[in-house]
Amino acid sequence: MPGTLYIVATPIGNLEDITQRALRILREVDLIACEDTRHTRKLLNHFGIETKTISYHEHNERERADELCALLESGKNVAIVSDAGTPLISDPGFRVVNLAAEKGIPVVPVPAASALVAALSASGLASDQFFFAGFLPPRANPRIAALEKLRSIDATLIFYEAPHRIAATLRDALAVLGDREAVIARELTKLYEEFARGKLSKLIERFSDAKHARGEMVLMIAGAQSIAPHEQGVPSAQLAERVGELENEGMDSKAALKKAARELGLKRDEAYRMMLTQKNRRSR
Ligand code: SAM
Repeated sequence: MPGTLYIVATPIGNLEDITQRALRILREVDLIACEDTRHTRKLLNHFGIETKTISYHEHNERERADELCALLESGKNVAIVSDAGTPLISDPGFRVVNLAAEKGIPVVPVPAASALVAALSASGLASDQFFFAGFLPPRANPRIAALEKLRSIDATLIFYEAPHRIAATLRDALAVLGDREAVIARELTKLYEEFARGKLSKLIERFSDAKHARGEMVLMIAGAQSIAPHEQGVPSAQLAERVGELENEGMDSKAALKKAARELGLKRDEAYRMMLTQKNRRSR
């Protein structure tokens, strides 16, 4: 008989958010595969759990998945945990779950916190339908392209974002999606938990200040139906078309971009990045 692979959620800040079942399973399994063994050891020490740990992260996922499945097939029980929240949700774990499922090894979730659900549940934005997009690309061009793909989705959009990128992401979101209602949930379950609510333009003001752009955060943006069509952001195709028209009228490309940006209510650097995204798309 194979053992069982448990996918165990751990707290995203407040240690009280661990479940009784998670503690029992972490105590009883033969091995805990951790994103960072030192980080998880602190959690285990806090609860007096002495189970053996092994590292399992994005750089060794492939080899470790084989090793862990071999152990499971030999009858051992294994738990997977990440540094915080639910494993596999923007965290390692996919390879071993995928392989275990393929091999017919039982895979059992042990649910608890996940930042995206905690954030959405208290956001005040529509929660009947949502689209979790994980982390947006860190570079501006691919980020704008990714946002354009989400533009017409009529469901609350949810992103994980790093504090040093939040201002740039908000600016790109405003340009591409329009001035929608949004919420940033910061430091969930921790001492300085905060829900910042308002239009994207208002959040940009607040989060451009490094004092506020700190800690862990989830960005949620209202879906497409929440905003009138004439208030929606500018697709880069529309910008490129207008720049092309102005160039055909004899304007040089710099002046054309400046004029088109002004007409469409875009900042010049945003318009420039959007043009690059459009050019990259054409050259693919
Ligand atoms: N697996 C985790 C989960 O279930 O939420 C997410 C891991 S992902 C690598 C880390 C990101 O989740 C952070 O950059 C942040 O966007 C979000 N996050 C995690 N903990 C958070 C918290 N306490 N408050 C707000 N966002 C959090």
